[in-house]
Amino acid sequence: ALFDQLSVNTDLIENLSRAGYDEPTTVQKQAITVMLEGRQLLACAPTGSGKTAAFLVPVIHHLKGPQRKGFRAVIVCPTRELAKQTQRECVRLSFGRGFRIHIIHKKALTQYAPNSSQKFDILVTTPNRLCYLLKQEPPVISLANVEWLIIDEADKLFETGLNSFREQLEEILQACSNKNRKIGMFSATLTPSVGEWCKENMRDFIQIIV
Ligand code: AMP
Repeated sequence: ALFDQLSVNTDLIENLSRAGYDEPTTVQKQAITVMLEGRQLLACAPTGSGKTAAFLVPVIHHLKGPQRKGFRAVIVCPTRELAKQTQRECVRLSFGRGFRIHIIHKKALTQYAPNSSQKFDILVTTPNRLCYLLKQEPPVISLANVEWLIIDEADKLFETGLNSFREQLEEILQACSNKNRKIGMFSATLTPSVGEWCKENMRDFIQIIV
């Protein structure tokens, strides 16, 4: 099957083909199909299996054009390096959409101007940096318009020290106050903490294991 058989918007198919992606990988086929239907997802597939595009394609598809009403998608990655790679992939796959994609970096932590998040559509971040910003008073960032929350490398994130990521995720979820927001959880392996968290916190989610 090719990407166009998955009913992905044609501009995205062009961007995929420009990136050299002609055929979806297994996790892409399954995750894109589920997320295009607007369903929440837990997807487990090995590193290098194409997970990044598996969540970026449906997220970009759903967001359509820029709206400048604040972040509509948040992608949480375990490391800054991974966040950078994900942002780069997001830039090339959303070419032509006019999205503003923001990555929180160290400087931005102190220089963050109030309300500047309203100029952006997509946020790529690590949990530490996101939670630091969410704690600022007066508020400097709003996730009230987030439609999709993507957790990448969930197994790694849940491994980071006792309950710290669980607590951070709780804060992030509270900030994503739109009642229609959906979660896409991506993981290399299905660890007990990832599986249990999804069962407790995600309603009617589809689980795929590649
Ligand atoms: P990821 O697992 O998302 O880190 O992707 C692993 C590598 O596969 C990256 O270098 C991607 O650029 C590449 N890739 C992802 N999807 C495809 C695809 N459908 N066709 C060819 N290469 C791909």
